[in-house]
Amino acid sequence: MSRYENGLNHPTEAVSFGAKTKTSARKQKAVRAQAAIALHLHAWLEEKFTLPVPDVPTFSRPEPETAAEMVRSCWGLGEAPAPNMVHLLEAHGVRVFALDPAHAEVDAFSFWRDDTPFVFLNTAKSGERGRFDGAHELGHLVLHGHDRSLTGPEAEREANQFASAFLMPRADVQARVPAGVTADQILKAKRFWRVSAMALAYRLHDLGLLSDWQHRAACKELAELGFRSGEPGGIPRETSQVLAKVSARLRESGRPLARLAVELGLPSDELNSLMFGLAFTLNHGQGSGGPAAPPRLHLV
Ligand SMILES: [Zn+2]
Repeated sequence: MSRYENGLNHPTEAVSFGAKTKTSARKQKAVRAQAAIALHLHAWLEEKFTLPVPDVPTFSRPEPETAAEMVRSCWGLGEAPAPNMVHLLEAHGVRVFALDPAHAEVDAFSFWRDDTPFVFLNTAKSGERGRFDGAHELGHLVLHGHDRSLTGPEAEREANQFASAFLMPRADVQARVPAGVTADQILKAKRFWRVSAMALAYRLHDLGLLSDWQHRAACKELAELGFRSGEPGGIPRETSQVLAKVSARLRESGRPLARLAVELGLPSDELNSLMFGLAFTLNHGQGSGGPAAPPRLHLV
C-alpha cells in the first residue's frame, strides 16, 4: 500500500513518500498543499484556543513492540483496548486532521513541526483501518521522530509492528485468544480490540498463536468474505473531538466556517475536509456524533 508520511520539519520539503509508492508527483504536491493549509489553520487555532500540550514520547532504541508498551504505560492505558484513537492522539497533543478523500491512494502521514506532532488520516477507509493508520502514524512519531529520520520499507515495517502491538497488546491477546482459532473466531475477537480481521490474523500469527498454514487458511477465508478489500459490518469512522469543539464554537459565535475561510484566505471546502467535514455537519445542525462526512462538501 502506498503511504505518504513522516516529514520531519517542513511539509513542503521534508515529507517523504515510501519507497514503493505509486503516488504520483501531482498527488504528492496536492497532499503537501493540504499539509500547508493545515499548518495555516493550526497557527490560527493555537492563537484562539488552548490546545492540549504535546505529550508524545520519542524513542529510538527499543524495538517497536517495546516502544508500543512504553507509550501505553506512559499514557496509563495498561492492557486495555485502545480507546478512540483520534481522541487519544488529540488528548496527548497530536494535531489530527483529515486528508481529502480524493487522495484515496494516500492512507495517512505524519510529521513533527518544531515540538508539535501532526497526523493526517484518510477518512475514506474503514473505521478499523483508520484506527490502525492512527496507531501506525503514532509509531512513526515515536520511533522516527526528532533524531532518527527513517523512511522506506524498514520504517514501514517498524510502524506496522508498533501499531499492531499498540492496538493488540501481547499479554492481553495471549490471555484471550487460544491457539489455532478459525476465521469465525477471529471475526468475533476483532470486535474487542476494534481492529480489522486481517490485522488480528496477522497479530495472532506474529505471536505464534496461528501457524503459517492456519494463518494462510484464515486469510483466504477472510478474503472470500470481503475482509481484504474492506471491513463488512465494521465500526464507524473515528473523528476529531478538538475540531468538533472548534466547529461548535465557531457556530455559536456566529462565525461560520465559510467566513473563517475568507479570513484565513483558504478554500472553505478544503478547510472543511481537513476538519473531518465537521464544520459543514454542524452548520447544518446535524450534530457531530456520526462518522465524518467523506466527500468534498461545498459550503454555500
Ligand atoms: Zn508509514
